[in-house]
Amino acid sequence: MLDWGVIVVAIVLLTAGASIRFAWWRRTVPYERPRILMYHMVREPIAGTRFNKLRVPPTLFEKQLDWLTRNGWQFCFVSELDRAGPKSVAITFDDGYRDNYIAADPLLERYGAVATLYLVVDRFDRDWSTTKKAHHDSGELMREDKLADAEVQSMLANGRWEIGAHTLTHALLPALSPHDHEAEIVTSKTALEDTFAVDAQSFAYPFGIYDARDVAVVGAAGFRFAMTTDQGIAADVGTSALTLPRVKVSGTEGLRSFALRMRTGRRGAFS
Ligand SMILES: [Zn+2]
Repeated sequence: MLDWGVIVVAIVLLTAGASIRFAWWRRTVPYERPRILMYHMVREPIAGTRFNKLRVPPTLFEKQLDWLTRNGWQFCFVSELDRAGPKSVAITFDDGYRDNYIAADPLLERYGAVATLYLVVDRFDRDWSTTKKAHHDSGELMREDKLADAEVQSMLANGRWEIGAHTLTHALLPALSPHDHEAEIVTSKTALEDTFAVDAQSFAYPFGIYDARDVAVVGAAGFRFAMTTDQGIAADVGTSALTLPRVKVSGTEGLRSFALRMRTGRRGAFS
């Protein structure tokens, strides 16, 4: 015999669970406000490691590009954000992992998409797995292959990429002396511009950690835009140009969560 009480309770619980997870009730952020997507790697996950959220599998990245295209989103560079039309999306990649060239670039080409790369100047044999002292670091991100300068050159030459600065060493900016602070921000810009003969018009704060001094120096260095890891969609790109929030893309979430993040800037009810 059917126990209707149990069935009703089950339906209520499932509906509540789905509501919290997918937050269908959350307001759609107006499509006039550009979305800035934050990626790190496009590669398969590694079992038993800490950073699989940063590893978006190539098949999932392709599904996301396909979804964006089918839903009428227009791809733009970060440097174009101040003149972007409705439904604009800027794809960003932090750090400079080699899979950005090997795996992401061919998919960008297939979908007519472009991306902005925040390249650490001195990115080889460095570990930024944690913001703590070096001996606490796991080495997980140090073991990931990084882009060679020649690969970055071909990316810039194919027209699908622009680069922005992400400091010289992936530094924790608020902890630095004035001299090192200036060097990490200003010298990272000039180093990229000298090496690649392009303008580095935007910046991304390492670890998403920044304070008022960082914002001031980034502005004085001539960057037009700066990326945080704060979650969301800016109400006005102009007024928050140097502290722009981004929409996080997680390698451990499906397309439904991605679509929700594109609509609302966040994933669920509490995140
Ligand atoms: Zn980074």
